[in-house]
Amino acid sequence: MACALGLGGTGWHVALFEKDSYPRDKTCGDALGPDVLNMLKRLLPHVYPSLLQLDGKHSVYGKQLWYPPSHSFFFDFRDRFGNEPAGYVLPRKDFDGMLFRCLKAYDHIEVFTGRHVDSADTHSDAFSISVAGRTYNARMGVVATGASFSLTREFA
Ligand SMILES: Cc1cc2nc3c(=O)[nH]c(=O)nc-3n(C[C@H](O)[C@H](O)[C@H](O)COP(=O)(O)OP(=O)(O)OC[C@H]3O[C@@H](n4cnc5c(N)ncnc54)[C@H](O)[C@@H]3O)c2cc1C
Repeated sequence: MACALGLGGTGWHVALFEKDSYPRDKTCGDALGPDVLNMLKRLLPHVYPSLLQLDGKHSVYGKQLWYPPSHSFFFDFRDRFGNEPAGYVLPRKDFDGMLFRCLKAYDHIEVFTGRHVDSADTHSDAFSISVAGRTYNARMGVVATGASFSLTREFA
């Protein structure tokens, strides 16, 4: 979704194929660190403000390290980030939903959920994918399947 949002800023016609549905609930990705926030700020202008408007997120200003018998040390990030939180913790599903709403604001970004991409191929002047026996062609393609390597292996 982040890639589609990034390309959305170009005005190109973007098609996003996802085998599951949005918003996804996953065990991973509840904590958004400084790199994630910086990346969100580089996407379309309404993306980062949309995160700030989300309810139920916890701001992160530091980390507490505990060690035996009962000592602790607090790493205060505020000297690096000022009063801005260095990150947020929120349910992945809420974050996913926020990105999905941002995508839907653009007519030239089409989202196809519940579509498993079976294969992907490059040609001299095009990129193609196969979904349920149908072939889709584009000038450019991005395979962003996370930990699922079956498609990325084809390009290794
Ligand atoms: C246990 C754990 C905890 C983590 N915690 C954090 C954290 O707190 N903070 C953090 O920033 N990062 C965390 N990460 C890392 C983070 O989850 C990943 O870096 C991030 O999700 C990667 O994003 P992605 O878009 O590349 O992949 P994903 O988020 O995995 O998205 C890939 C998408 O591709 C879809 N897909 C796969 N194959 C196909 C196919 N053939 N056809 C169609 N669709 C397909 C999948 O359904 C999925 O929706 C954690 C990772 C793990 C394993």
